[in-house]
Amino acid sequence: MIVVQKYGGSSVADTDRIKRVAERVVQVRRDGHDVVVVVSAMGKTTDQLIRQAEEVSGIPPARELDMLLTAGERISMSLLAMAMHELGYTARSLTGSQAGIITDTTHGKARIIDITPGRINSALAEGHVVIVAGFQGVSRDSKDVTTLGRGGSDTTAVALAGALGASVCEIYTDVDGVYTADPRIVSTARKLQRVSHEEMLELAACGAKVLQVRSVEYARNHHVAVHVRSSFSYGEGTWVQDESEANMEQAVISGVAHDTGEGKLVIRRVPDKPGVAARIFTALAEANINIDMIVQNVSEDGTTDISCTVPLADGPRADLLLTALLPEIGAEGILFDSDVAKVSLVGAGMKTHPGVAAAMFSALSDAGVNIEMISTSTIRISVVVRAAEVSTAVQAVHDRFNLGGEVET
Ligand code: ASP
Ligand code: MG
Repeated sequence: MIVVQKYGGSSVADTDRIKRVAERVVQVRRDGHDVVVVVSAMGKTTDQLIRQAEEVSGIPPARELDMLLTAGERISMSLLAMAMHELGYTARSLTGSQAGIITDTTHGKARIIDITPGRINSALAEGHVVIVAGFQGVSRDSKDVTTLGRGGSDTTAVALAGALGASVCEIYTDVDGVYTADPRIVSTARKLQRVSHEEMLELAACGAKVLQVRSVEYARNHHVAVHVRSSFSYGEGTWVQDESEANMEQAVISGVAHDTGEGKLVIRRVPDKPGVAARIFTALAEANINIDMIVQNVSEDGTTDISCTVPLADGPRADLLLTALLPEIGAEGILFDSDVAKVSLVGAGMKTHPGVAAAMFSALSDAGVNIEMISTSTIRISVVVRAAEVSTAVQAVHDRFNLGGEVET
């Protein structure tokens, strides 16, 4: 049996922690499993490297930035390999490229297009523990080193687990699982034993930070079971798996996520005629700005307001871009409001249980929270509220659906 384990930055933050990780890996090895370990960079190393790049360059060339950032994971992989040797186990550390992680050439957010794990398999066959640098690969076309986007070690681990046919992909982090809400906001938030890939995808995309969105997408597409757990304890964490297996709890609602990383863009008094929305959103798409919720108001006097949410980081760019477009589309003006938050309720049971939206909205209204925008998927309802009210809103929705309780183990 092959076990894939991924240790995040906090789990390898210093050399003592690296030694502790080595001990954990040894235990799995002793149980007779083959182990492939994926590591993140130590602590805040990636942030530091980005800062250094910005000190020498206004806009660091993407190829060189990737070359720099991949160094972070090389440090932790080689130190962990040394710690394993110290415990009497042989380990082979491999860069993403050596491990056969083949990507496209989109520096900074490359996609994995193939995995050729020949070197991993032969190292395992020789009895070594294999340690792979997370968050990186090599471009098939340019042969340059690439990175998979922030938090990308999760994706490395899931992709390797899929390619190697591992029995489990364990993601070790500093929290002990996925919760029904952020425990810093809701003290009664409960750890989920199981959650489906679909639900986790919605939770991660709506602000739950425990797994990188892409890794969940990959796990869903390749049916990889992921066990999210803490590297500081031995308790069970949360299993993220296919719906057929995950649905054992039959909960209607899994959790409430929130995100304060988006702002609201309003295009005021847009002429209500065909082609205008297409023009606006084509311009945003061409600028590679991801939009999320979209609301178009009922038109009055032949004009209407159109709003959407965009990542805060893209707000100024979207504002500039659309302001330049105003004369062409004949709208009155652009407003960008960064003081908003998105609160999302996620649960596979929504598909078959009517009244979930009604209950969510009345919980918000009872708490005095005004809803500014609404969007839904089959298993999610999201609302935009004032940023200052995000805690109240999350708490109210969590209470209304009785999501809290004893912490499960
Ligand atoms: N070290 C990278 C980051 O900080 C990748 C990862 O941790 O998954 O984003
Ligand atoms: Mg992470």
